[in-house]
Amino acid sequence: LKQLRQGLGKTRQNLLNQLKSVVGQGPLGADALMDIEALLLQADVGVEATDFIVEALQAKLRQEALPPDQAIIYLKGILRDILDRPLKAQNNPVLAPHHGQLNIWLLTGVNGAGKTTTIGKLAHLGKKSEYSCLIAAADTFRAAAVQQVQTWGDRTGIEVIANPGQNTDPAAVVFDAIAAAKARGTELLLVDTAGRLQNKKNLMAELSKIRRIIDKNAPDAVIESLLVLDSSLGQNGIRQAEVFAEAANLTGVVLTKLDGSAKGGVALAVTQKLGLPIRFIGAGEGIEDLRPFASYEFVEALLG
Ligand code: GDP
Repeated sequence: LKQLRQGLGKTRQNLLNQLKSVVGQGPLGADALMDIEALLLQADVGVEATDFIVEALQAKLRQEALPPDQAIIYLKGILRDILDRPLKAQNNPVLAPHHGQLNIWLLTGVNGAGKTTTIGKLAHLGKKSEYSCLIAAADTFRAAAVQQVQTWGDRTGIEVIANPGQNTDPAAVVFDAIAAAKARGTELLLVDTAGRLQNKKNLMAELSKIRRIIDKNAPDAVIESLLVLDSSLGQNGIRQAEVFAEAANLTGVVLTKLDGSAKGGVALAVTQKLGLPIRFIGAGEGIEDLRPFASYEFVEALLG
């Protein structure tokens, strides 16, 4: 928790300290609600989630006065509700690969979001938890991408399936990777994909071709489609996410670069607006700097 608090330092500083001074002035009133609204928007919580939070506070205030301490506690509860809602729909609070089965996790996201780094970190996490892992370097569009993934493969000691040569078909790489995964009894296959947002049609076509290959060749696999989202982009990231949500059948989000970002509130916009659970959070460039998302921990790091 301490580490996450540090990671969320900037968001925490802005949001918590000011919230405390707003709320700390006595029972919550209409003026304070407006200040809270402004603070939430500043922290990139987004309009929808902010409205929801302010309305929930208002409704509570109609029933009873909220002294400062209770106001913060009540607020934390609302934030946790927002963050947990998509998880309740999916009924699996912590995302983990199923042992003894092939799990295919597709990672999508624009270049620079931290996709490759996240694959490295997930591979490390998977290996530590004694899953047999494999990485497919299916971002064949960028010449450097395959090399970058390979570097993480070397670092984690996990095999990378790649196709040499540029502009190979990403679906062909996935095909090879599935064959390799079956031959080796792999439990977790991590697939790096190209992050070209400029052309939504291409992106959709590429991702749906990959999905067809998976459905055909690994029909029993447990599939996760995770969007890697740079939290420092704030609301712009949400717009990107909407495009990927349309193209990639997303099942969850990995929120990266929470360290140093003052926009940690974007986590709430992701769950409220996109209805997607946050599955992991990245708060650093190191191999250990990825953790499963837990709403309690996140809210405490933000406001505790
Ligand atoms: P990709 O283009 O999406 O594959 O992005 P990369 O994985 O290459 O990451 C882009 C840059 O962001 C690299 O310099 C990473 O070290 C950095 N990065 C990735 N995740 C994090 C994170 O959680 N925190 C910080 N501070 N940097 C990160």
